[in-house]
Amino acid sequence: MALSIAFDNSYARDLEGLYVLWQGDLAPKPRVLRLNEALALELGLDPVALLGPDGAPALTGGISPTGAKPLAMAYAGHQFGGFSQQLGDGRAVLLGEVIDRNGLRRDLHLKGSGRTPFSRGGDGKAVLGPVLREYLMGEAMHALGVPTTRALAACTTGQTVMREAPEQGAVLARVAASHLRVGTFQFFAARGDQDNLAKLADYAIARHDPDLQGLPDRHLLFLRRVVARQAALIAGWMQLGFIHGVMNTDNMALSGETIDYGPCAFMDTYGSATVFSSIDQQARYAYGNQPGIARWNLARFAECLLSFLSDDDDEAIRLASQEVDAFGAQYEAAWLGGMRAKLGLASAEGDDLDLAQSLYTAMEGQGADHTNTFRALGRLTSADNPVLRAEFTDPAAVADWQARYLARRARDKMDPYLRTAAMAAANPTYIPRNHLVEAALRAAGQGDMAPFDKLLSVLSDPFTEVAGQEAFAQPAPDSFGNYLTFCGT
Ligand code: AMP
Ligand code: MG
Repeated sequence: MALSIAFDNSYARDLEGLYVLWQGDLAPKPRVLRLNEALALELGLDPVALLGPDGAPALTGGISPTGAKPLAMAYAGHQFGGFSQQLGDGRAVLLGEVIDRNGLRRDLHLKGSGRTPFSRGGDGKAVLGPVLREYLMGEAMHALGVPTTRALAACTTGQTVMREAPEQGAVLARVAASHLRVGTFQFFAARGDQDNLAKLADYAIARHDPDLQGLPDRHLLFLRRVVARQAALIAGWMQLGFIHGVMNTDNMALSGETIDYGPCAFMDTYGSATVFSSIDQQARYAYGNQPGIARWNLARFAECLLSFLSDDDDEAIRLASQEVDAFGAQYEAAWLGGMRAKLGLASAEGDDLDLAQSLYTAMEGQGADHTNTFRALGRLTSADNPVLRAEFTDPAAVADWQARYLARRARDKMDPYLRTAAMAAANPTYIPRNHLVEAALRAAGQGDMAPFDKLLSVLSDPFTEVAGQEAFAQPAPDSFGNYLTFCGT
């Protein structure tokens, strides 16, 4: 008997022609390896049923729960700057949407469920390591307070999937505010399909910005909201030292959630040019390029909306450019707000942006651990305290900045105890350290889930320093070497 889930499938209902109804492959021996029980409850799903005999076949895509209307979504996208008219869910299906306990509509999506009409050359599969990696990174990002898709479950399929070596087939069940991407709009814009584009725009507005529904200038206002959400998102990434790695337009969600964890990673040592992804040969998606890339992607999104902005082409371009240009100021405001919190400043001074930027300038090339440098600021009680200087190869490189910062902090009237607490709440102790993630995935591949479970548990409460967990706050040992990530397909 199939599982029953109270789906309400608006995408299937409202956007006919924008997807292909599609069933996932029947896994030979599906097993729920990990279930996010708290998230299941938040979604109004029964964890016991998901862990029961009907759970794994449903969560791997082979047997759809009653009420599901699985489909593969169409989208296009700019990948590393080059446009592809047709990408789409090549190894995924949208199982359906549920309304969660807070009344929010959430997509339940399966990644690795088999080939679809959009697979092109791919095998439609996913393997265990990357599936667990996305689980871990998404849950960490969520706990760190940055909008993200989340993992509901990681399942193994019982199938062997060929990559560099034989790997265990796996499926990630993930939850998203929606899977609407910049690339979803590009799909219809590239085909000049104005009717579907209009339908899609109204759908996206109803879903993410329902207060704009029916307004004559809703497309312009929607663009403004998407820009604002991306500005906040990228500021959040930058302040955590997170590098997405594949900021293609098909991997940018209109909801403002982080989506498609592939070769992403958090950096230990700060460096604005840091790149981890083995396929990013040109360093297009390097840490320091992320705000600029987001703006470029938003310009691609704005292009899709031009025909709705004005009948006059020049006027439409002018309006769209204005919104895209606003990204710079919005990003700066979001970043500065976050930095004031990280620096423990309750007041605002005109020089704060420069103060914050100067810290990053001082950190460049100094071997400073991104996460621990900010933690050190919270413990910096006086000028003779070495805790911040100790993060720098050359302690003198931060001396001037430290003096300036302490003077600025002295002008800020926040109670010192409150400041310490506020800074601890703004600067995490635990991020997914690459060497720990790799060790956890290696053990999982050999059937030992203990390191994964421990790391997940530490990362689910990243702001609380816990005695005995010191190893989770340390950067990788030198022996770990330069970290390279792979797309995980
Ligand atoms: P990504 O860069 O992982 O977001 O994926 C880009 C595109 O490649 C999407 O259309 C995916 O569905 C597709 N894709 C990735 N891996 C596979 C695979 N193993 N089989 C089929 N399609 C894939
Ligand atoms: Mg993608």
